[in-house]
Amino acid sequence: MSGRLRHYVCGSTSHDLAAMFRGGAHEVRQFPSGVFLYDGAGGQRVLFDTGYATGEWRTGWRGAVYRRLLPPTVAPDDDIARQLREDGVDPASVTHVVLSHLHPDHVGGVARFPEATFVMTSGQQRALAAPRLRAGILTGLLPSWFSDATKIVLGERDFRPTAVGGVPLSAADLFGDGSYRILDLPGHADGHIGALVDGRVLLAGDAGWGRDLLGAADALRAIPRAVQHDYADYTRTAAHLQAVAAGGVRIVCSHDPLDEKELLS
Ligand SMILES: [Zn+2]
Repeated sequence: MSGRLRHYVCGSTSHDLAAMFRGGAHEVRQFPSGVFLYDGAGGQRVLFDTGYATGEWRTGWRGAVYRRLLPPTVAPDDDIARQLREDGVDPASVTHVVLSHLHPDHVGGVARFPEATFVMTSGQQRALAAPRLRAGILTGLLPSWFSDATKIVLGERDFRPTAVGGVPLSAADLFGDGSYRILDLPGHADGHIGALVDGRVLLAGDAGWGRDLLGAADALRAIPRAVQHDYADYTRTAAHLQAVAAGGVRIVCSHDPLDEKELLS
């Protein structure tokens, strides 16, 4: 297997770690919103998440609450489609868009990919059908055509026990060749998923605020804890991912600042 995995930053937010974690240092950290493009040997082109939406958000009072709690910094140049084009990638050539979950900093660019097949989970569809404020879903960010878009909706039965770095996880093999495995990483949001790319890089979505913060999952303060879909699952998933890392697989969280753009070279 020889694929290519590229990282793009589509907007960011920032928080004081001391306000998020008990015992956290007073350090205002930038949390970029990562988007990951995989080019598989078989011609598949898979985008993992889509970043923040640029321009005006038509998301009503829920959007106002969200932006107050998690103020985004987004410039027109952050648009994922624009960044792909500048990199020589036609957005229409993206065959699949995997959504780790439906929070605004992950679905903002969905509207740019009307021709793609969207890979999501039954848990995400459940959350979308009954969007509550606590679930953090702003349906106004999704294009009107999204309900009719081509989708692969993974349910419980699609996930099989799979050892990753020696750790038992649940995975769905997207193309049947092991190049791109969708991982069940429960806790952060209903139906939250990650992806194991070429068996080497594990895109962990929001399973942790950062790779280095997975070990602090059980020290989250009350408010960031309350917005997790299932906090017990969240801490369990974080522990699993730390064990996976110890097994030699690289973990990349959506909001990790990364120095390099190519993640498989
Ligand atoms: Zn999230």
